[in-house]
Amino acid sequence: MRRLARWFALAVAALLVLVGVGLALAHRQIRGIDPPLPDLAALRAFADAPDLPVRVSVWNSASQPAPRRFVLEPSRDPDPSRPYTMSHAAVVLEWEDGRVLVVDAGMDAEQARAFGRPIEAVGAEVSVPHGSIGAHVAPAITGRPLAIAFTHLHSDHVGGAVSLCAALPSETRVRLFQTPAQMDLVNYTTRPGHALVAAARCLAPERVADAPLAALPDRPGAFVIHAAGHTPGSQIVGAWVRDATGVRGFLFAGDAANAIDGIRRDVPKPWPYRAFIVPEHEPRLARVRAFLREAEAAGLVLALAHDEHHLATTGITSFGD
Ligand SMILES: [Zn+2]
Repeated sequence: MRRLARWFALAVAALLVLVGVGLALAHRQIRGIDPPLPDLAALRAFADAPDLPVRVSVWNSASQPAPRRFVLEPSRDPDPSRPYTMSHAAVVLEWEDGRVLVVDAGMDAEQARAFGRPIEAVGAEVSVPHGSIGAHVAPAITGRPLAIAFTHLHSDHVGGAVSLCAALPSETRVRLFQTPAQMDLVNYTTRPGHALVAAARCLAPERVADAPLAALPDRPGAFVIHAAGHTPGSQIVGAWVRDATGVRGFLFAGDAANAIDGIRRDVPKPWPYRAFIVPEHEPRLARVRAFLREAEAAGLVLALAHDEHHLATTGITSFGD
């Protein structure tokens, strides 16, 4: 019996060492990625394209009210009692001739419930799914030239792509635009997302230019910025949209922050999150937040995947409305 206990203790210790080494390696990797951020004039140049997208809308695949301390470091949050709801948004950009660019895919109902359960276990409300982009977006974009980009390869951003592919005719190819960093650099938090990309049979990955700022092929007005910080391949997708209100610039910043006050008030994510759950490069994210603050001050509209209250203030309509 004593022998068994000793083996058990040894196994637990070995497991802890393995987890520790894995975490340390992931931290070392993410800390080594700090490419230059583009200046706003370089972003503005994309607004000169002759045929900009003519519509931007969002499909929120799930909502989960949660305390702000889950997403903002409480000691730095100037407004900790403000309500917060975690959304899981997919963005749809549409061009006059029918071309589509989807940014992030959210999750289907089953994935959203499973993703929300551990967050619920530590004090959030239950995750309420609103349905997948396969059910709600695919019917309206079937037969059109389709492309998708993920802000990063976490399963809550990639999961819905499986439903999208399943809902499209079997021969459909959806071009998947990825920076080389997103394609090539993996850590344990993005491995399930890489697997989901492989499982989503309609996705045809395409490497965009290896640069801090790159144009998205055949999607005039749209671009991608290698953001890093959250995952090695995190990217900010941007686009200038020309609609009845004029030309507006949008930055879809994924999880650079999970609440808009992270950017506006410069609040990091809680330290246990960035130390143990998603190994992040906080100094890099602080630079990304400063860049996004500057962009917002210059009139660009920021959209985060997970801040439902803020999304509702951006003027971006819900897909299909
Ligand atoms: Zn996320």
